[in-house]
Parts: sequence; structure tokens; C-alpha cells
Amino acid sequence: MPSITHNLIAIRGQIEATARQAQRDPASIQLVAISKTHPVEKIQEAIAAGQRCFGENRVQEAQQKFSGLRAQNPDLALHLIGALQTNKAEAAVQLFDVIETLDRPKLAKTLADAMRKTGRRPRLYVEVNIGEEPQKAGILPQLLPEFLATCRDEHGLAICGLMCLPPAGRDPVPFFEQLRRLADRHALPHRSMGMSSDFSQAIQCGATAVRIGTAIFGSR
Ligand SMILES: *Cc1c(COP(=O)(O)O)cnc(C)c1O
Repeated sequence: MPSITHNLIAIRGQIEATARQAQRDPASIQLVAISKTHPVEKIQEAIAAGQRCFGENRVQEAQQKFSGLRAQNPDLALHLIGALQTNKAEAAVQLFDVIETLDRPKLAKTLADAMRKTGRRPRLYVEVNIGEEPQKAGILPQLLPEFLATCRDEHGLAICGLMCLPPAGRDPVPFFEQLRRLADRHALPHRSMGMSSDFSQAIQCGATAVRIGTAIFGSR
């Protein structure tokens, strides 16, 4: 059995087991296969194993890899999980089904303009700088209420979730719990958190999407 197929089966099993332990419906947790830097052949292997949802961190790389794949597999869903420059916002709106990295007011305005212009409405998650790290992207937790209001009232953007990347080298659980609380407080149904090393903990804390790269495709 090819290793990507094997990895996907193992991860699906682990997601299901963790969900049941946490008394959650496994179907409420989406596996986003993070295929950044990996070639089309590996993505095809994942598609053959039944995976339909993928995440990429660069607009141009995603365009190059997924235009052909999508022509053959119209049911693929694509998430943007990396920083989005405003000059690529329109291309991102055309390509992605979910943009997980709305992280600043200027991008909110640019995305709103691009959505009006193209008629496409990808789902939007706000990236939260959950560890309040100066070098990291994302809205600070204390500024989230104001940012959500700006998205809604000034730009007419419907935000449906939050995404975070906890600080490296620390216990992620308190950060996952905080993202969960923030999402609940604002009635946002989607919580994207957890990667290869910590997705089980994220599921226990209420993740609705886990973003897994290395554990599926190997190291980058
Ligand atoms: C690369 C990346 C992932 C996947 O990380 P792995 O450790 O390879 O599973 C998840 N989320 C974001 C935002 C990433 O950039």
C-alpha cells in the first residue's frame, strides 16, 4: 500500500478514536491535508485514497498544482492557510473555497472588493494571534470583537470561523481552549486548530478542522 494511503488511514482512525473519546461526532471534524511544497503526484495519491480537502500556503503554488487536479476532480475543496498579500487577494478569492488567514483590516477590505468583483464568496476564518507573539500574524484576542464588527458592518463579510497556530514549544492546550472560547463567544461554528504533532489535543479542545501535512505526506 502506498505510504500516503497508509498514513491517511491511520490519521482518520486517530481522528475518529479521539472524537469518540471526547464524545464528539467524527464527521464534525474535517481533515485538511496540507500539501504545501509537495508535488502533484503525492496529492494525486491522497486523492486516490479518498482525500478531498487540501490546504496550501501560497496562492501561486496552489494555482499551479490544483488547476489540473481540479479539472479531473471537481469536488476538491481548497483552503488557504498562509499569509495573503493584498495584491493576491483576487486570485485567492477565485481559487480557494476557504480562506483561513484573514488577519488584518486592509485585507478585509480587499477581500470584500474582490468578492464583489468576482461574485465568488469563499468562506472566511479570522486568524487569531493566540499566543500574542510579536512576530506572528493574526488578530490579537483582545482586538477580535472590534475586528469582527468591522468585517461585518463595514465590509459585509460573513466570518464563519477562527484559526490559530499556538506558540512553538509550549503546551498547545490552553491556546486551543482559548480559541474555542473566543469562537463560542462570537457564535462562530468553525475552529481550525491542530497540526501533525497536536491534532488529537486540538480535537479534544473542540477543533472542527485539523490541518495535517507532515503526518500525511512526510517531511518537507
Ligand atoms: C504547514 C502548516 C500546517 C501543517 O503542519 P504539519 O506539522 O506539517 O502538519 C498547518 N497549519 C499551517 C498554518 C501551516 O503553515
